[in-house]
Amino acid sequence: NEPLETVDPEIAAVLKNELGRQRNTLEMIASENFVPRAILEAQGSVLTNKYAEGYPGRRYYGGCEFVDVAEDLARDRAKSLFGAAYANVQPHSGASANAAVLSAIAEPGDTILGLELSHGGHLTHGMKLNFSGKLYNVASYGVDPETFLVDMDVVRQKALETKPKVIIAGWSAYPRTLDFAAFRAIADEVGATLWVDMAHFAGLVAAGLYPNPVPHAHVVSSTVHKTIGGPRSGFILTNDLELYKKINSNVFPGQQGGPLMHVIAAKATAFKLAATDEFKDRQVRTLSGSKLLAAALTTEASKAAGVDVLTGGTDVHLVLADLRHSSLDGQQAEDALHNVGITVNRNSVPFDPRPPMVTSGLRIGTPALATRGFGDVEFAEVADIIALTLQQTGDLEALKARVTALADAFPLYPGLEQW
Ligand code: PLP
Repeated sequence: NEPLETVDPEIAAVLKNELGRQRNTLEMIASENFVPRAILEAQGSVLTNKYAEGYPGRRYYGGCEFVDVAEDLARDRAKSLFGAAYANVQPHSGASANAAVLSAIAEPGDTILGLELSHGGHLTHGMKLNFSGKLYNVASYGVDPETFLVDMDVVRQKALETKPKVIIAGWSAYPRTLDFAAFRAIADEVGATLWVDMAHFAGLVAAGLYPNPVPHAHVVSSTVHKTIGGPRSGFILTNDLELYKKINSNVFPGQQGGPLMHVIAAKATAFKLAATDEFKDRQVRTLSGSKLLAAALTTEASKAAGVDVLTGGTDVHLVLADLRHSSLDGQQAEDALHNVGITVNRNSVPFDPRPPMVTSGLRIGTPALATRGFGDVEFAEVADIIALTLQQTGDLEALKARVTALADAFPLYPGLEQW
């Protein structure tokens, strides 16, 4: 029963250093968030000891009476949050949820049609080195080269040409809403199954700030750790009982063995929190912050420095900075922001003239800072710091001091000395 500090000081130091990094910098990676202390507790609990293969009430192991309660709560809360008839909360991650979904709705060799990776799609939607690209015949739709928007006429045309078994709607880097009803109409026209991957925007959906795909899609997958701000993991929703049965068997035993019951308990807590007014307020601040950021990166001064925003703005928790005309490439811009204490990731823009390891874009997200407590005043300040950094006009020391002032004003995990 020795503490980590004693058993493994090297790993204890990693935890301490990472806590310090998270406290002292501004986290703007769009897929990241800060879980509340309650979720750290559930995840760092004795539930990690329990094997529970199977589903509540039908386990292959004894002693599941308490973990069953956790999984039932997680499923019921997920269903009620998104208005779905059925939920599977066992996927260890977004990628494992997606693997289970695809194996439930398509056979190897079938055609799947999703948003191209370099236009904002995800690896699991058909990238050639991913299971999805290896097992399935991949077709893709891209965004319009002028507007950078998904054009439903193009999606329909691609669907008519390629006759996919599955149409995938969802993204990792796209700043606008999608028309799920239009996707469903196309899926019905070509006899495809519509799968929506809401990994990024699920928190906005829960708060009523992004269209809910559940009424339109045959199946919806998601992560819990991005805008929802819960434990790193995935889940799957559907309204179709037959599909639900297939999904269950494709999660376990199809893709996974024992579920991570400590994570499932933490998911239950995350879904409970996501139904509160406080959560909704956080999503409102998230969205308002990203709109302020988009405004700061589309000023005359920004444009004069070659900095712009794809699609001219945002409807979601992230902004795609367009650096095609900037002397800073994505890598240099990521480094410049890192040097002032702001963490973001470089991102290819559609039709990117620079190579994928360099890129001409940045993906900048507001969920983690909204969780930290930022409102419009602080987001306007951080937007100004980012704009000056990308315009290469600010004084480095002054910008760093402004970042430190923001971080200090919103202490992260106050009172927590380890974890
Ligand atoms: N789906 C989408 C749209 C994503 O953006 C991501 C994560 O980046 C995933 C799935 C995969 O989630 P995970 O990293 O938990 O496997």
